[in-house]
Amino acid sequence: MAEFQGLDFLLLDDLLSDEERLARESVREWVSREFLPRVQEHVRRDGSFPMELVPAMAELGLFGANLEGYGCAGMNNVAYGLVMQELERGDSGLRSFASVQGSLCMYPIHAYGSDAQKERWLPAMAAGRAIGCFGLTEPDFGSFAQGMRTRAERRGGSWVLNGTKRWITNGSVADVAVVWARTEDGVRGFLVEKGTPGFAAPDIKGKFSLRASVTSELYLKDVEVPEENRLPKAEGMKGPLSCLTQARYGIAWGALGAGMACYDEVLQYTRERVVQGGPLAGKQLTQEKLVFMLTELTKGQLLALRVGRLKDEGRLHHTMVSMAKRNNVDVALQVARLARDLLGANGIVDDYQAMRHMVNLETVRTYEGTHDVHTLILGEHITGHRAL
Ligand SMILES: Cc1cc2nc3c(=O)[nH]c(=O)nc-3n(C[C@H](O)[C@H](O)[C@H](O)COP(=O)(O)OP(=O)(O)OC[C@H]3O[C@@H](n4cnc5c(N)ncnc54)[C@H](O)[C@@H]3O)c2cc1C
Repeated sequence: MAEFQGLDFLLLDDLLSDEERLARESVREWVSREFLPRVQEHVRRDGSFPMELVPAMAELGLFGANLEGYGCAGMNNVAYGLVMQELERGDSGLRSFASVQGSLCMYPIHAYGSDAQKERWLPAMAAGRAIGCFGLTEPDFGSFAQGMRTRAERRGGSWVLNGTKRWITNGSVADVAVVWARTEDGVRGFLVEKGTPGFAAPDIKGKFSLRASVTSELYLKDVEVPEENRLPKAEGMKGPLSCLTQARYGIAWGALGAGMACYDEVLQYTRERVVQGGPLAGKQLTQEKLVFMLTELTKGQLLALRVGRLKDEGRLHHTMVSMAKRNNVDVALQVARLARDLLGANGIVDDYQAMRHMVNLETVRTYEGTHDVHTLILGEHITGHRAL
């Protein structure tokens, strides 16, 4: 296949600054050069992430890229979104690694942590010397995370944590886990370090989706952490939910990257594939599919760009992120399914990207608020009725 062409039907590049375009181009080039040649091997090895790329990702400023200080790149939110798009053009697992590190672990420490916690973790995490994970979901509580059973109880100057978290990206490779637990004062966030007695993070195997990503359980049995490990400014579900808004914003861009990879691949393929005396691209049914892909991805780009500009202006409401995540993941998944279909039998092997992106996007549709959950968030926002 020829080099990835990108997709800019409405000349949206005109609306980007030089810095924003440069951020996108440098990550695009790196993903093509360093990540894509490795992804097949890692997908075949269930649940393995190319950890050797972490230093280069840090060098590119990919960890906590839109945070200020502590060695973070301090990009604006549009540049950050474009970076997430390019990472997910490689693989949803690659973007997930950066999202969890930056939006779900560094962000809560940045927003809710003490000065000591920030000094200890943020520079190390920005440099890729420390890896983080985010433990909110439990076996019995995913969409309804506020039902969590994990508890933290005071014991002198410490906290004792008990419970199980499940589906935790980077769990077993993380040096620190942001664990959300119920206390007598409501939900609070705790930094649980690898190796703390009673804390274990076994991996979940057998995934069809997000195979180039580590997914783990977190077991906490009488895990004692000092008061200094509690995030002092995080109170109630607002803490974890604000992290999710950050990550969901990145996903709204990221999913477009996966969709763009599929569109690019299948456009090239159908031009070259000859069926019934002519190129597949010359058939009316094919063109209808390609035009659908182009149109939906372009509409998704407009949505992501507008939401990004509003985020930079401080005018973003979390429901706007819900709309962008819900729509863009949905259209990317439709694009991936159509691309897989147009590739015919070739579409089921990993020499082509479409099926890998397609099964990855099934996870992306589920995590960070399922498609349905974002429907309910938006439905409640516009009607005033909580439809649970
Ligand atoms: C690969 C992977 C990585 C993940 N990484 C992380 C991570 O790093 N940290 C973390 O904390 N979590 C993580 N998750 C968990 C993820 O956020 C949850 O899976 C998600 O929130 C959905 O929860 P659930 O799986 O329990 O599904 P459920 O909540 O049981 O949902 C099942 C179905 O019911 C629907 N549903 C739910 N509630 C309603 C309702 N009120 N009305 C109608 N329909 C409803 C849902 O839309 C869905 O279709 C990850 C998940 C995966 C698959």
